[in-house]
Amino acid sequence: MSTYRVAVLAGDGIGPEVMHEALRVLSAVEQKYGFNTQRVEKPVGGAGIDASGKALPADTLAECEAADAILFGSVGGPKWENLPPDERPERGALLPLRAHFGLYANLRPGVCLPELTAASPLKDSLIEGGFDILCVRELTGGMYFGQPKFYGEREGELIGLDTMIYHRHEVERIGHLAFRAAQGRSHRLCSVDKANVLSASVLWRDVMTELSAQYPDVQLSHMYVDNAAMQLVRNPGQFDVIVTENTFGDILTDEMAMICGSLGMLPSASLCTRGNKTFGLYEPSGGSAPDIAGQGIANPIAQILSMGMMLRHSFGQVQAADAVDKAVRAAISVGFRTRDLATGSPGERVVDTAAMGDAVLDALEQQFNLVNYQHN
Ligand code: NAD
Repeated sequence: MSTYRVAVLAGDGIGPEVMHEALRVLSAVEQKYGFNTQRVEKPVGGAGIDASGKALPADTLAECEAADAILFGSVGGPKWENLPPDERPERGALLPLRAHFGLYANLRPGVCLPELTAASPLKDSLIEGGFDILCVRELTGGMYFGQPKFYGEREGELIGLDTMIYHRHEVERIGHLAFRAAQGRSHRLCSVDKANVLSASVLWRDVMTELSAQYPDVQLSHMYVDNAAMQLVRNPGQFDVIVTENTFGDILTDEMAMICGSLGMLPSASLCTRGNKTFGLYEPSGGSAPDIAGQGIANPIAQILSMGMMLRHSFGQVQAADAVDKAVRAAISVGFRTRDLATGSPGERVVDTAAMGDAVLDALEQQFNLVNYQHN
């Protein structure tokens, strides 16, 4: 029986509350699908600062090194806001983890389920039937890391300088990942760039076009980022897989999160290759939500789905991952809603964090019973 080691970093705010539910769901699927996880919980973010003075304590990092995947909650909160920027939970934990492991690919599903279109700020007529987009964002290159960077005075005037640079190998590796993701979905890939203005984008477009010859079953299209930002709010259903560079991805994924309705529904995965395995940090797209922390009302679904992404991408437990996704959809379709999803529509059952976890577990149990019934 396969055993996977998971570094569990629940973090701050709602992190531990939603992590608890994700771990309950993990226990249920591992029993049913015949694998084990060995989980080691470690402090991170504000909890790390409180425990040992650092947002990413050395033994937390060591545990991540030893693990097959990192399941991350969220970090930050008012208690640590007055620390110097580099010591704050977000900068001091997440960025070093990304850099340490070279997590170059960020996968962010933007799913608006048909039952939840009312929670989206977009008009019903634009998103009838919901939508399901996967954004693949390059995470370790481009303008956020390009050198030179400079802020200061030059020739008597204050200037700010950043450099947008991409190397061929960086575009190739994210490109392959995005083409493969498209193969697993509807075989459509939209590459977003600004090739009418930026040289780094011309390279991006050239390499994506070149790679497409290796994926004849995937239909590649290109779109300028300004148009993509408009198209996302005009007709999100036209997209399936989007691949884009770091800065554009940062902005587009936030726009995508907004139009989906609630941050509480959106998981994410940041991936790299380690040997022949996919290593990843799996976390909800939202933050630590200090405004609702400690009340037991946060939506655990983003954390549960992040755990599902870990099963799929790092452990190759595709059936178990599918079962988790399906159970979440089932819980929503029978009306369970945490407060962030509630719209007052008839049939909604507004529940707290634990009851939403129970609803997902019940839906899983029903799936298992159905499978057993079909097999007997
Ligand atoms: P946030 O995502 O924490 O919250 C924004 C809004 O969304 C809040 O109203 C919150 O209640 C709601 N929300 C988020 N997740 C929810 C969930 N699961 N269920 C129900 N509602 C949910 O963003 P913020 O308020 O800008 O930031 C709060 C703290 O989190 C800050 O310290 C910020 O730096 C940090 N942060 C951390 C991460 C991370 O750990 N990856 C990401 C973003 C923000």
